[in-house]
Amino acid sequence: MSEKKVIPAGATWKEIPVAGIIPTAGTAQEFKTGDWRTRKPIHDEKKCINCLRCWIYCPDASIMVKDGKVIGIDYDHCKGCGICANVCPDKVKALTMIAQSEEE
Ligand code: SF4
Ligand code: SF4
Repeated sequence: MSEKKVIPAGATWKEIPVAGIIPTAGTAQEFKTGDWRTRKPIHDEKKCINCLRCWIYCPDASIMVKDGKVIGIDYDHCKGCGICANVCPDKVKALTMIAQSEEE
């Protein structure tokens, strides 16, 4: 197994691998990649029926679940794609996308 190389936040272009490749797997945990998000999902736990469709479909594993229930959104990694709100059942609509700049 190759040694895991972590590229530090604020790395210069000389420290980034050629062509911007990701040299090792599982590095997403090391970086707060949600900081370029323009929209964010807001979860309403009163409406949520915990079907976990959002958890299944989120491409960034940013739906936080404990004991089979959605407990929040990992905004450090959520990209604001809106997939979770899109797959939340129409009759429930427990996830709403808002502009990142809006107050919750
Ligand atoms: S907006 Fe996208 S990245 Fe963020 S929690 Fe929803 S599905 Fe995941
Ligand atoms: S898809 Fe909607 S109702 Fe289902 S767990 Fe997610 S937020 Fe709750």
